[in-house]
Amino acid sequence: MNALEVADVSFSYGARRALEQVSFSLAPGRFSALLGPNGAGKSTLIALLTRLYDLQQGELQVCGHSLRQQPRQALRQLGVVFQQSTLDLDLSVEQNLRYHAALHGMPRKLAAERIDQELARQHLGERRRDKVRELNGGHRRRVEIARALLHHPRLLLLDEPSVGLDPASRQALIQHVRQLCRDEGLSVLWATHLLDEAQAEDVLLVLNHGRLIAQGDAAAISQQDDGDLNAAFQRLTQLKDCA
Ligand code: ADP
Repeated sequence: MNALEVADVSFSYGARRALEQVSFSLAPGRFSALLGPNGAGKSTLIALLTRLYDLQQGELQVCGHSLRQQPRQALRQLGVVFQQSTLDLDLSVEQNLRYHAALHGMPRKLAAERIDQELARQHLGERRRDKVRELNGGHRRRVEIARALLHHPRLLLLDEPSVGLDPASRQALIQHVRQLCRDEGLSVLWATHLLDEAQAEDVLLVLNHGRLIAQGDAAAISQQDDGDLNAAFQRLTQLKDCA
Protein backbone atom coordinates (compact mmCIF):
# COMPACT_ATOMS: atom_id res chain seq x y z
CA MET A 1 0.00 0.00 0.00
CA ASN A 2 1.31 3.45 -0.84
CA ALA A 3 2.32 5.74 2.01
CA LEU A 4 0.65 8.65 0.28
CA GLU A 5 -1.74 9.17 -2.64
CA VAL A 6 -2.32 12.67 -3.93
CA ALA A 7 -4.96 12.68 -6.67
CA ASP A 8 -5.86 15.71 -8.74
CA VAL A 9 -5.43 18.20 -5.90
CA SER A 10 -6.02 21.89 -6.67
CA PHE A 11 -6.14 24.69 -4.13
CA SER A 12 -6.70 28.45 -4.30
CA TYR A 13 -6.34 31.27 -1.81
CA GLY A 14 -9.19 33.43 -3.06
CA ALA A 15 -8.32 34.16 -6.66
CA ARG A 16 -4.72 32.98 -6.27
CA ARG A 17 -4.15 29.44 -7.47
CA ALA A 18 -1.54 27.72 -5.28
CA LEU A 19 -1.85 24.10 -6.49
CA GLU A 20 -3.04 22.97 -9.89
CA GLN A 21 -4.14 19.35 -10.41
CA VAL A 22 -1.30 17.78 -8.47
CA SER A 23 -1.16 13.97 -8.51
CA PHE A 24 1.53 11.59 -7.25
CA SER A 25 1.97 8.59 -5.01
CA LEU A 26 4.73 7.67 -2.58
CA ALA A 27 5.82 4.08 -2.17
CA PRO A 28 6.50 3.09 1.44
CA GLY A 29 9.98 3.37 2.93
CA ARG A 30 11.38 5.88 0.45
CA PHE A 31 12.96 9.28 0.97
CA SER A 32 11.12 11.71 -1.28
CA ALA A 33 12.22 15.29 -1.84
CA LEU A 34 9.44 17.76 -2.59
CA LEU A 35 11.44 20.37 -4.44
CA GLY A 36 10.42 23.76 -5.65
CA PRO A 37 11.37 27.42 -5.45
CA ASN A 38 9.68 29.68 -2.91
CA GLY A 39 6.01 30.08 -3.74
CA ALA A 40 5.82 26.76 -5.62
CA GLY A 41 3.09 25.40 -3.34
CA LYS A 42 5.02 23.08 -1.00
CA SER A 43 3.67 24.50 2.27
CA THR A 44 0.16 24.56 0.86
CA LEU A 45 0.39 20.86 0.06
CA ILE A 46 1.64 20.14 3.58
CA ALA A 47 -1.15 22.29 5.06
CA LEU A 48 -3.69 20.19 3.15
CA LEU A 49 -2.07 16.93 4.25
CA THR A 50 -2.17 17.99 7.89
CA ARG A 51 -5.72 19.33 7.53
CA LEU A 52 -4.77 22.87 8.39
CA TYR A 53 -6.80 23.70 5.30
CA ASP A 54 -9.72 21.75 3.92
CA LEU A 55 -9.38 20.14 0.53
CA GLN A 56 -11.14 22.11 -2.20
CA GLN A 57 -10.60 19.63 -5.00
CA GLY A 58 -9.05 16.20 -5.31
CA GLU A 59 -8.33 13.40 -2.89
CA LEU A 60 -5.59 12.61 -0.36
CA GLN A 61 -4.93 9.23 1.18
CA VAL A 62 -2.38 8.37 3.85
CA CYS A 63 -1.56 4.64 4.08
CA GLY A 64 -4.85 3.85 2.38
CA HIS A 65 -6.99 6.12 4.57
CA SER A 66 -8.86 8.97 2.95
CA LEU A 67 -8.18 12.27 4.66
CA ARG A 68 -11.71 13.36 3.88
CA GLN A 69 -13.55 10.22 4.99
CA GLN A 70 -11.23 8.74 7.63
CA PRO A 71 -9.31 11.73 8.95
CA ARG A 72 -8.40 10.16 12.30
CA GLN A 73 -6.95 7.02 10.78
CA ALA A 74 -5.14 9.04 8.12
CA LEU A 75 -3.63 11.53 10.60
CA ARG A 76 -2.64 8.68 12.92
CA GLN A 77 -0.14 7.61 10.24
CA LEU A 78 1.37 11.08 9.86
CA GLY A 79 4.20 12.75 11.74
CA VAL A 80 4.87 16.39 10.94
CA VAL A 81 7.74 18.81 11.43
CA PHE A 82 6.53 22.29 10.49
CA GLN A 83 8.71 25.04 9.09
CA GLN A 84 8.38 27.16 12.22
CA SER A 85 9.48 25.45 15.41
CA THR A 86 6.77 25.07 18.04
CA LEU A 87 8.97 23.88 20.89
CA ASP A 88 8.79 25.66 24.24
CA LEU A 89 12.31 27.00 24.68
CA ASP A 90 12.04 27.21 28.46
CA LEU A 91 10.99 23.60 28.96
CA SER A 92 13.45 20.73 28.87
CA VAL A 93 13.61 18.36 25.91
CA GLU A 94 11.79 15.72 27.93
CA GLN A 95 9.11 18.13 29.19
CA ASN A 96 8.35 19.23 25.63
CA LEU A 97 7.82 15.62 24.60
CA ARG A 98 5.74 14.78 27.69
CA TYR A 99 3.55 17.80 27.13
CA HIS A 100 2.92 16.76 23.53
CA ALA A 101 2.11 13.17 24.54
CA ALA A 102 -0.32 14.37 27.22
CA LEU A 103 -2.04 16.70 24.75
CA HIS A 104 -2.58 13.71 22.50
CA GLY A 105 -4.03 11.62 25.29
CA MET A 106 -1.16 9.14 25.42
CA PRO A 107 -1.15 7.21 28.72
CA ARG A 108 1.77 8.25 30.96
CA LYS A 109 3.55 4.92 31.03
CA LEU A 110 3.38 4.48 27.28
CA ALA A 111 4.53 8.10 26.83
CA ALA A 112 7.54 7.53 29.11
CA GLU A 113 8.53 4.41 27.13
CA ARG A 114 8.13 6.11 23.77
CA ILE A 115 10.04 9.19 24.91
CA ASP A 116 12.99 7.04 26.06
CA GLN A 117 12.89 5.15 22.79
CA GLU A 118 12.73 8.25 20.59
CA LEU A 119 15.38 10.18 22.46
CA ALA A 120 17.74 7.23 22.10
CA ARG A 121 16.90 6.91 18.41
CA GLN A 122 17.54 10.63 17.83
CA HIS A 123 20.81 10.43 19.85
CA LEU A 124 19.42 12.93 22.33
CA GLY A 125 19.41 10.82 25.49
CA GLU A 126 22.07 12.92 27.18
CA ARG A 127 20.28 16.18 26.44
CA ARG A 128 16.90 15.17 27.84
CA ARG A 129 17.06 17.43 30.90
CA ASP A 130 18.50 20.42 29.03
CA LYS A 131 16.25 23.33 28.20
CA VAL A 132 15.54 23.51 24.47
CA ARG A 133 16.98 27.04 24.55
CA GLU A 134 20.41 25.52 25.26
CA LEU A 135 20.32 23.30 22.15
CA ASN A 136 21.68 24.25 18.74
CA GLY A 137 19.37 24.44 15.73
CA GLY A 138 20.14 20.93 14.50
CA HIS A 139 19.40 19.37 17.88
CA ARG A 140 16.18 21.36 18.21
CA ARG A 141 15.07 19.91 14.90
CA ARG A 142 15.84 16.43 16.19
CA VAL A 143 13.65 17.06 19.22
CA GLU A 144 10.87 17.99 16.80
CA ILE A 145 11.47 14.79 14.84
CA ALA A 146 11.35 12.77 18.08
CA ARG A 147 8.08 14.48 18.94
CA ALA A 148 6.64 13.84 15.47
CA LEU A 149 7.50 10.13 15.77
CA LEU A 150 6.15 9.53 19.30
CA HIS A 151 2.92 8.00 18.03
CA HIS A 152 4.79 5.75 15.53
CA PRO A 153 3.51 7.18 12.25
CA ARG A 154 4.44 5.55 8.93
CA LEU A 155 4.95 8.81 7.03
CA LEU A 156 7.06 11.74 8.21
CA LEU A 157 6.46 15.15 6.59
CA LEU A 158 9.07 17.87 7.02
CA ASP A 159 8.51 21.38 5.68
CA GLU A 160 11.87 23.05 4.95
CA PRO A 161 13.40 21.55 8.10
CA SER A 162 16.90 22.79 7.35
CA VAL A 163 16.07 26.50 7.11
CA GLY A 164 18.31 28.48 9.44
CA LEU A 165 20.82 25.66 9.98
CA ASP A 166 24.50 26.00 9.11
CA PRO A 167 25.70 23.72 6.28
CA ALA A 168 27.21 21.09 8.59
CA SER A 169 24.07 20.81 10.77
CA ARG A 170 21.95 20.72 7.63
CA GLN A 171 23.89 17.76 6.24
CA ALA A 172 23.88 15.99 9.62
CA LEU A 173 20.11 16.39 9.90
CA ILE A 174 19.39 15.12 6.43
CA GLN A 175 21.70 12.13 6.88
CA HIS A 176 19.95 11.37 10.14
CA VAL A 177 16.52 11.37 8.51
CA ARG A 178 17.79 9.27 5.59
CA GLN A 179 19.01 6.73 8.09
CA LEU A 180 15.58 6.56 9.78
CA CYS A 181 14.16 5.89 6.36
CA ARG A 182 16.72 3.15 5.57
CA ASP A 183 16.77 1.45 8.96
CA GLU A 184 13.14 1.68 9.96
CA GLY A 185 11.28 1.71 6.68
CA LEU A 186 9.81 5.12 7.49
CA SER A 187 8.43 7.01 4.48
CA VAL A 188 9.70 10.57 4.32
CA LEU A 189 8.48 13.61 2.42
CA TRP A 190 11.11 16.35 2.78
CA ALA A 191 10.06 19.71 1.34
CA THR A 192 12.89 22.01 0.33
CA HIS A 193 13.91 24.73 -2.10
CA LEU A 194 17.53 23.56 -1.81
CA LEU A 195 18.40 21.17 -4.56
CA ASP A 196 21.59 19.95 -2.92
CA GLU A 197 19.45 18.24 -0.27
CA ALA A 198 18.31 15.70 -2.89
CA GLN A 199 20.38 12.66 -3.88
CA ALA A 200 20.41 10.32 -6.86
CA GLU A 201 18.62 7.52 -4.95
CA ASP A 202 15.71 9.75 -3.88
CA VAL A 203 12.28 10.11 -5.33
CA LEU A 204 11.88 13.67 -6.61
CA LEU A 205 8.66 15.65 -6.81
CA VAL A 206 9.30 18.97 -8.51
CA LEU A 207 6.70 21.69 -7.99
CA ASN A 208 6.73 24.97 -9.86
CA HIS A 209 3.97 27.59 -9.79
CA GLY A 210 1.62 25.05 -8.21
CA ARG A 211 2.17 22.38 -10.86
CA LEU A 212 4.03 19.12 -10.47
CA ILE A 213 6.44 19.35 -13.38
CA ALA A 214 8.44 16.17 -12.72
CA GLN A 215 8.18 13.13 -10.51
CA GLY A 216 10.10 9.87 -10.16
CA ASP A 217 13.56 8.59 -9.34
CA ALA A 218 16.11 11.38 -9.30
CA ALA A 219 18.46 9.29 -11.43
CA ALA A 220 15.82 8.94 -14.16
CA ILE A 221 14.84 12.61 -14.04
CA SER A 222 18.46 13.71 -14.46
CA GLN A 223 19.38 11.09 -17.03
CA GLN A 224 19.28 13.47 -19.99
CA ASP A 225 21.45 15.89 -17.98
CA ASP A 226 24.16 13.23 -17.40
CA GLY A 227 22.95 12.71 -13.84
CA ASP A 228 23.42 16.37 -12.96
CA LEU A 229 20.44 17.16 -10.71
CA ASN A 230 21.14 20.88 -10.77
CA ALA A 231 21.03 20.96 -14.57
CA ALA A 232 17.84 18.88 -14.55
CA PHE A 233 16.20 21.22 -12.06
CA GLN A 234 17.18 24.29 -14.05
CA ARG A 235 15.91 22.73 -17.24
CA LEU A 236 12.63 21.86 -15.55
CA THR A 237 11.99 25.13 -13.77
CA GLN A 238 13.96 27.34 -16.16
CA LEU A 239 15.38 29.15 -13.18
CA LYS A 240 18.98 30.24 -13.07
CA ASP A 241 19.48 29.50 -9.41
CA CYS A 242 17.26 27.54 -7.10
CA ALA A 243 19.15 28.16 -3.88
P1 ADP B 1 6.17 27.27 -0.89
O1 ADP B 1 5.92 26.55 0.39
O2 ADP B 1 6.61 26.38 -1.99
O3 ADP B 1 7.09 28.45 -0.72
P2 ADP B 1 3.42 28.21 -0.61
O4 ADP B 1 2.57 26.99 -0.54
O5 ADP B 1 3.75 28.91 0.67
O6 ADP B 1 4.77 27.84 -1.41
O7 ADP B 1 2.74 29.27 -1.57
C1 ADP B 1 2.14 28.93 -2.81
C2 ADP B 1 1.43 30.15 -3.37
O8 ADP B 1 0.32 30.49 -2.54
C3 ADP B 1 2.31 31.41 -3.43
O9 ADP B 1 1.92 32.13 -4.57
C4 ADP B 1 1.92 32.15 -2.16
O10 ADP B 1 2.11 33.54 -2.32
C5 ADP B 1 0.45 31.79 -2.03
N1 ADP B 1 0.01 31.77 -0.62
C6 ADP B 1 0.52 30.99 0.37
N2 ADP B 1 -0.15 31.19 1.53
C7 ADP B 1 -1.10 32.12 1.26
C8 ADP B 1 -2.12 32.74 2.04
N3 ADP B 1 -2.31 32.44 3.34
N4 ADP B 1 -2.91 33.66 1.42
C9 ADP B 1 -2.75 33.94 0.12
N5 ADP B 1 -1.82 33.39 -0.68
C10 ADP B 1 -0.99 32.49 -0.11
